[in-house]
Amino acid sequence: MENDTIEIFRKEMDATGLSVSAKQIDQFSLYYDLLVEWNSKINLTRITEPVDVCRLHFMDSIAPMRFVSFEERSLIDIGTGAGFPGIPLKITNPSLKLTLLDALDKRCRFLKEVTDSLGLDNVTIIHGRAEDAASGKLKLCDNKAVSIINISEDEKDTDVSLRGRYDFATSRAVAKLNILCEYAVPFLKTGGRFVAYKSLDENNTELGDAGKAMQILGAVCERHEDYSVPGHANDRTLYFILKEKETPEKYPRRTGLPDKKPL
Ligand code: SAM
Repeated sequence: MENDTIEIFRKEMDATGLSVSAKQIDQFSLYYDLLVEWNSKINLTRITEPVDVCRLHFMDSIAPMRFVSFEERSLIDIGTGAGFPGIPLKITNPSLKLTLLDALDKRCRFLKEVTDSLGLDNVTIIHGRAEDAASGKLKLCDNKAVSIINISEDEKDTDVSLRGRYDFATSRAVAKLNILCEYAVPFLKTGGRFVAYKSLDENNTELGDAGKAMQILGAVCERHEDYSVPGHANDRTLYFILKEKETPEKYPRRTGLPDKKPL
């Protein structure tokens, strides 16, 4: 990334009160370079102008830090694609234990390159569908539906259940809120939060439509916060969905059903 873009990014981050260190700026810069390089080979993003990437990907991804702390917490980013919002959250919160989940293998290969190049530790990348990864026990290294690209040595060749394991789940631009709740809530510990990144919806229609799903899954919308990134109108909303009790074992339903027949 060019120096003038880095300077704009640094100033805009400072203005939001979320300042970043020189090392973190270097990591964002390298992430940008890899994103653009890989985007010419595989489809990762339509947004490639440096300032736009800084605002619409990097700053958007870390927006929940204005409202909650991710320090020392575990987080799964569902349908992470090119790593949004998971990787920017990890760069700005080095103590975060991060799992990146995506259904597309090529994107997971890109994520592996990014985490290795940026020297990010405590990151697990899972190629698979949310419905499979949350449905119970999963055999790391040897599962047809879910393959683990990057796991810690002590987790290798063991059965690991991703269910009920995370303090946070995040998802941006993946599905409607009622579908997302069925993907995300089973991954959470009781007391954990699903942070859904959405376009501003003045009537909260998606939230209303997700009411039944949240009730079935044992969750409730704790708060929602409108926000913006520099250069853009106030056009985004974060929904913070709290898991209040255990999700019944039958959820998520088998692959494809949450999407075809939303709760
Ligand atoms: N979250 C990223 C962002 O905001 O830029 C990527 C959004 S992209 C439009 C949606 C991603 O979700 C794709 O990479 C797709 O493979 C993934 N995806 C969709 N349904 C999924 C599922 N059920 N489980 C895992 N990944 C899924």
